[in-house]
Amino acid sequence: MDRNIDYLIVGQGIAGTILSYKLLKKGYNVKVIDDGHKTSSSTKAAGIVNPITGRSYVKSWMIDSLIPAAKRTYKDLEDELGGKYFYNHNIVRVLGSIYEENKWSSRLLDDTYSKYIISDYDTSILDEYYKDVESCAIIKGGRVALRSLLIDYRTWLLENDALIESTFKSKHLVVKPRTMYYNDVEVGNIVFAEGVQSIDNPYFPDLPFQPNKGQVLIVDMPNYKINDIVKHGIFICPIEGNRYWVGSGYERDFEDDKPTKEGRTRLKDQLDHVLKACDYKIIEHISGIRPSVKGRKPLLGRSNIHSSMYLFGGLGTKGSSLAPYWAEHLINFIENKVDIHPEVDFNRF
Ligand SMILES: Cc1cc2nc3c(=O)[nH]c(=O)nc-3n(C[C@H](O)[C@H](O)[C@H](O)COP(=O)(O)OP(=O)(O)OC[C@H]3O[C@@H](n4cnc5c(N)ncnc54)[C@H](O)[C@@H]3O)c2cc1C
Repeated sequence: MDRNIDYLIVGQGIAGTILSYKLLKKGYNVKVIDDGHKTSSSTKAAGIVNPITGRSYVKSWMIDSLIPAAKRTYKDLEDELGGKYFYNHNIVRVLGSIYEENKWSSRLLDDTYSKYIISDYDTSILDEYYKDVESCAIIKGGRVALRSLLIDYRTWLLENDALIESTFKSKHLVVKPRTMYYNDVEVGNIVFAEGVQSIDNPYFPDLPFQPNKGQVLIVDMPNYKINDIVKHGIFICPIEGNRYWVGSGYERDFEDDKPTKEGRTRLKDQLDHVLKACDYKIIEHISGIRPSVKGRKPLLGRSNIHSSMYLFGGLGTKGSSLAPYWAEHLINFIENKVDIHPEVDFNRF
């Protein structure tokens, strides 16, 4: 183990993965400490990159900058790790009301939306599998295979002696006027990328987290033949072979991050409600807590308590599209003294 490192990154979700990868590629000596994805949101997510969202079908915040950064970063990771992580996908949204139809119609006439819209899509295949499909919005989006990426990257970190499999504890940290020691290793900077666990981070008190829980069914549907992501009340998202990710709600009141019986029943009812006769088998029922924050924008910046500690979090419902762009931004802030974007500065509250 090195006695001296430039960066200690706490957490190996998508935030810690991308940040540490970019730092390592820039030549810094980096270690990632992670507790085995104990509270990871990234390993539960579908990883959907959706450029047009919500009931009003508006472009996601900064999406024109986020998508190119995401595609570049995931391609670099694919080249380095030898896996496939970014998939282009159409996202088919079944329009659920006159309001949604009107909003979508106006987007079809808006040039600034055209690169994210498909107008010549044959919807007849949807009728084979789904009930009540009258009109749809077809969006050019994507999906990041977050679980595979995190597992492959973890192996790569281990091979490169850059992973500490343990829980970061403040009691093991000694802060001196010009440096810090974590378990006797001298550390230049610490970046906390702990997902929802940042709520309890003593170096970043009172962060405006509004966590919400999502539950998911992983189902096997051998007879289902749609390779696009479909949102008909819930998302049905192809992941591999005959497997589909089906989810997920936004629960604001919850006791813990565990899947519940009610959650499973609710998802099953929703799926049965929209699917025509199509057999499926539930393979897994999982759940996670999204690190969402008030205002739904990330939380970045330097601690007001220790000037060598930084935060990279608050990725909410959109970690797969936000992490690449904002990791690069945080590195520019720390290393090149570029001002932090005011909309993501955690001190904005
Ligand atoms: C059901 C569900 C569906 C979702 N769907 C999508 C989607 O389709 N598209 C999308 O972009 N996003 C989606 N999200 C949101 C996405 O998961 C998050 O935005 C993103 O994963 C957050 O990444 P993170 O790295 O900040 O946090 P996390 O993934 O939670 O990673 C934090 C890591 O740090 C570890 N850790 C925490 N504290 C410590 C400590 N003290 N010491 C060591 N390790 C620690 C944790 O165990 C974890 O491994 C979804 C989330 C859920 C729950």
